[in-house]
Order: sequence, then structure tokens, then C-alpha cells
Amino acid sequence: MNKIAFLGLGIMGHNICMNLLKAGYPLTVWNRSSKRAAPLVKAGAQKAATPKEAVADADIVMVMLSDDAAVEEVVFGPDGVLEGVKKGQVVMDLTTVSPKTSLREAKAFHACGVEFLDAPVFGSRGESRDAGLWIVVGGKKKVFDKLAPVFQTISATQHYMGPNGKGSMMKLVGNLLVAMQLEAIGEAMILATKAGLDAKDVLGVVNVTDFKSPIFAGVGDALARRDFSPNFYLKLMLKDANLIAQLAEELNVPIPAAAVVRETIKGAVNKGYGDQNASALIRNLEEQAGVQVKYQD
Ligand code: NAP
Repeated sequence: MNKIAFLGLGIMGHNICMNLLKAGYPLTVWNRSSKRAAPLVKAGAQKAATPKEAVADADIVMVMLSDDAAVEEVVFGPDGVLEGVKKGQVVMDLTTVSPKTSLREAKAFHACGVEFLDAPVFGSRGESRDAGLWIVVGGKKKVFDKLAPVFQTISATQHYMGPNGKGSMMKLVGNLLVAMQLEAIGEAMILATKAGLDAKDVLGVVNVTDFKSPIFAGVGDALARRDFSPNFYLKLMLKDANLIAQLAEELNVPIPAAAVVRETIKGAVNKGYGDQNASALIRNLEEQAGVQVKYQD
């Protein structure tokens, strides 16, 4: 079986690695804070001291970091991935980054004779744990096809979007919809609460109608339980809202509603909710409305 090196053992990376190990892939892991590697080492992974060391012996390199700045350090920085890769390897970056960063990575890896895919994912903590992610990929189709067994090990569906950069573009398009849905369920639940409707009754309608959505169902219930424990950090949602705004600006596309949502997210992060779940953007809206959504006892 192909040897895999995996860099970045956060919420998503940890769960993806567990599934790779379960499937029998020989796995070497690296994380900036090295203690996060411990449960994976216990489950059978090797631990590397640097990204360069991690990738030295791998057939496939997978990267899952927080943002563009982290990719800059881990891929392009000293003792980074680029210093360790060899001709014939394939690198895939699952991080949600700017399409420009994906293109920069592709150029740098191709110059070393290494194939590169931008392969960001949809789904969150639960889907990563259950190998039920949805992956959107940019790069050469033949490389995408070759890596199908790895993608299938960690995801429910795999989507080839076109050349390098297109996976990252699709991820931003999808997250525009996610951000809008968070704002929408927040505004609706706050209005309903102030109108004296019972959150349970409201969700009972929302979850069966022709406007139902898994995001409305999951976030609506967690909101009414006052559970903002992180599956996807709000600070990362702000990073994505900024990337969406950049892409829209480059393409001269008006995204007026997404701009409003970005302001809601920014305000919520400034209020100190960045390390909570992305749904904590709704706390900012609640504070403006002077009401909290919760189930009645
Ligand atoms: P996370 O739990 O915050 O993990 C981030 C990882 O990046 C950690 O391993 C962290 O290392 C590492 N990192 C951050 N800055 C670094 C730097 N400068 N140098 C080296 N390593 C650095 O995030 P996550 O939820 O797993 O998300 C990972 C990526 O997937 C993000 O791009 C996110 O937008 C995307 N995504 C997340 C979800 C979700 O629901 N969580 C869903 C889809 C896509 P340390 O442990 O040392 O901090």
C-alpha cells in the first residue's frame, strides 16, 4: 500500500488520519504542536520531527492546515515540504486556501517533478470521523483518478472540478452557501424567539418543509441547546469569508448578502467568539436583538 505522510493534526486532520490507519495505510504524521501526534502514534502512525522529514519516504503527502499562512510556513518554509519532496510523489492540500495559493503550490511542486492536487473538503468533525466528507479536487484528472482509493477512504463523494485552483474555488463557492445558511437560521430563530414562538415548534416546521437543510437542522438544534463547542472554528469561517470576498473582488462579482454575513462574522470574532463553533456568529445577531434562542424547559 502507498505510504502516506500527513501534516496538520487539527480537528479534521486527526480524524482523517484515523481513517487512513484503519484502512491499513502506512502513515507518518507531523504537527506543529507535537503532542497532537500522540493518539495517532498509539494507533500505529510514525511521528516525524519536521515536515521535510515526514515527506521523505512517502508516496503521497497530505496537508491539512488552518490557512494560507500555515501553508506558507509548512510547505514553503525552512524544513518544509518542498525541501523534502522527491520526483514521483503526489502532494494534495486539503486546507481551505486562496486559489492563488493552490496555483503557487502547484507550480512549486511541478518544478520538483511532484504532482499536486488542491483537494479541500466539505463536511465537518462528524463527517471526517465517519469518512463521510465531500472532496472537491483541482489538478490533473489522471492524478485524481490514481488517488481515488485514498479519497474513497476518507470521503463519501469525490468531485473533479478541473485544473489546479478549481478545487479551492469550488470550496469557496460552497462556503459562501454555508455562511449564508448560518446567518439565515440565526436571523430566523431570533425573529421567531422575539415573536414568542417556541424554538422546538419552529424547528419542527423548518426541518420538514421545502426549505429544510441539514445545516438548519444541526445548527438550529445546537443553538437552542446553547452548544457552541467547535466543530469548525468561527475564526476559520472568517478566514473563508475573507477568501470569498477576495475571489469575488478579483472577478468583479457582487456578493452583497455574503458581505453582510462577513460583517456579522467579523463582529462575532471581535466579541471573542472566534474559538467557538462557526454558528457562534449568531451570538452577535442575538446581542443586537437583545434575545437568546433556547429551548423552553
Ligand atoms: P484546526 O483544528 O484549527 O487545525 C489547524 C491545524 O493547522 C493544526 O494542526 C495546527 O497546528 C496547524 N497550524 C496552524 N497554523 C500553523 C502554522 N503556522 N504552522 C504549522 N501548523 C499550523 O482546523 P481544522 O478544523 O482541522 O481545519 C483545517 C482546515 O480545513 C482549515 O483550512 C479549515 O478551513 C478546513 N475545513 C475545516 C472544516 C471543519 O469543519 N473543521 C471543514 C471543512 C474544511 P497546531 O495544532 O500546532 O495549532
